[in-house]
Amino acid sequence: MDLSIVVPIYNEEENVSVLHASITAALAATRLVYEIILVDDGSSDNSFFHLKKIAQDDPRVKVIRFRRNFGQTAAMAAGFDAAAGRVVVPMDGDLQNDPVDIPRLLEKIDAGYDVVSGWRKNRKDTFINRKLPSILANGLISRLTGVHLHDYGCTLKAYRRELLDGINLYGEMHRFVPALASQVGARVAELPVNHLPRLHGTSKYGISRTMRVVLDLMTVKFLLAYSTKPIQLFGKWGIYTLAAAFLSGGTTLYMKLFEHVSMNRNPLLILTAFLLFMGVQFIVLGLLGELNARTYYEAQGKPIYVVRERVNFAD
Ligand code: UDP
Ligand code: MG
Repeated sequence: MDLSIVVPIYNEEENVSVLHASITAALAATRLVYEIILVDDGSSDNSFFHLKKIAQDDPRVKVIRFRRNFGQTAAMAAGFDAAAGRVVVPMDGDLQNDPVDIPRLLEKIDAGYDVVSGWRKNRKDTFINRKLPSILANGLISRLTGVHLHDYGCTLKAYRRELLDGINLYGEMHRFVPALASQVGARVAELPVNHLPRLHGTSKYGISRTMRVVLDLMTVKFLLAYSTKPIQLFGKWGIYTLAAAFLSGGTTLYMKLFEHVSMNRNPLLILTAFLLFMGVQFIVLGLLGELNARTYYEAQGKPIYVVRERVNFAD
């Protein structure tokens, strides 16, 4: 199978039939063997009824229905887990992504990239609560992860499937897959794609998503930089804090001996106590982190490295 298209669906009853028709039309001219995995994320409207009808008429369509609303990331993860295609292309189910772009994404994959990220260069959403936060968030994510993309939030992307096998998604993390994939050595490219205004149904998100994205970004940054060596982060801050404690404590002592400032009247003494506590806490956190890292990697039999190829090995 060449291609698995994964679509999260939450209350999109007016959109799903048109979506299926437009995907089918866009891929008819290609010779691709493909499947469409539609994941109903606990819709409370008639989406599932329509999805089932579509699947009855088209054997290439597979439907997964969640018991309740688990969120877009979970819906996409379920689709990725079920995908059999060599390449996996997620897209929105609200007709804002254009399936016409799919063959172009695949061309880019065939040119040797592992991840191709769509870029809604001409995005059809409101400026102040969608596009502006998105510009800021993309700048921040690019800087912190070192993977520079204009549009992390665009659902329409293409992945080589074997890359997704090693990546587990939590929270709002579906948008960070290119950064996580790049950590395991993926070659990442970007491609401008169409974006259309939402005609039916309503957006499931508002400005509050920005906060959730920023929190997940902290997790991703930590995972990318320190998941195999947490003591390097916490221990460093522990040492800085302890050094500051000794400085502050030394100053307190000096002020007592040579300037006759009584220690219990000197606020630096309290600072010293705080810094000592914090320094020890940081180091202990780092050590606990090291213990957790070992549990995490060894319980899963997960190596701390990723091999691209092996030459002259028997297997
Ligand atoms: N979606 C989902 N579960 C959710 C929220 C959204 O599966 O809890 C789906 C939704 O049906 C759509 C896609 O995720 O197919 C993107 O959602 P939306 O269009 O509301 O986001 P926006 O384009 O406004 O960022
Ligand atoms: Mg949308």
